[in-house]
Amino acid sequence: SDFPRQPAALVTGAASERGIGRATAHRLAREGWAVAVMDLDEAACEALAHELSQTHGVPALGLGVDISNEQQVIDALAQVDAELPQLVGVVNNAGISSPTPFTEVSTEEWKRVFDVNVHGTFFVTREAVKIFRRHSLGRIVNISSASAERGGGVYGRAAYSGSKAALLGFAKTWARELGEYGITANSVAPGSIDTDIMGGRLTDERKEVLLQELPVGRVGTVDDVAGAIHFLLGRDGGYLTGVTLDVNGGSHIH
Ligand code: NAD
Repeated sequence: SDFPRQPAALVTGAASERGIGRATAHRLAREGWAVAVMDLDEAACEALAHELSQTHGVPALGLGVDISNEQQVIDALAQVDAELPQLVGVVNNAGISSPTPFTEVSTEEWKRVFDVNVHGTFFVTREAVKIFRRHSLGRIVNISSASAERGGGVYGRAAYSGSKAALLGFAKTWARELGEYGITANSVAPGSIDTDIMGGRLTDERKEVLLQELPVGRVGTVDDVAGAIHFLLGRDGGYLTGVTLDVNGGSHIH
């Protein structure tokens, strides 16, 4: 059905100061979207929502949610549905990395990575799709990783790579299964983006090594990723479904 005049989007994992989620929330708000932001720290989410509405003049809602907690996700999506304009987009951006080599990774770490990256994405998307179906319109974007495509990334090892590969499969299947409800589902696979996800491990030295293999000749920024997400969510993205956009500067061409 028709795009509403002011659609709303939900961005998970949006609180981190230098992260992809925050940049995406700002990009969407700048383009007139109402935005719900979710992350572990409630105060940080509320502050971000305030910042979004002050800066861009759009409705915004900040929710403290651990996406791996099913009930918290159910309650939060009900609140988004009640308090914001029509939800059209969900950006499954919240995620944790796992740099531990396979032979050393603990069961606990392995499970936590899948709890957040896979099960959390499942809970959020399931609740969002219930809302999308009522309106016969929805856009899902999973934030995967080049790590999922090439067998580990600069830092991510098996748990991370496997969890991010699962997101590619989900998006493709949702694309097939949910198309009849007016819902598209796509993935964005970033290469190395300069954020805090690896706790400052993207050192200048490491950047130099990366740059040698990067056709575009620079490390990616959060705005590079936010632009791709905005395109997939927006009016112009409606005929793309089941695709993966590689936002990696050419580091992995396949
Ligand atoms: P980031 O660590 O800055 O942001 C991730 C956010 O997710 C944080 O704010 C964190 O608090 C939140 N989060 C973690 N667990 C959560 C949970 N259980 N519930 C709710 N929120 C939770 O990292 P980023 O680099 O901005 O990463 C954003 C996404 O992009 C991640 O999914 C990451 O895997 C993916 N990605 C990043 C890169 C990169 O190079 N930075 C590359 C490929 C993919």
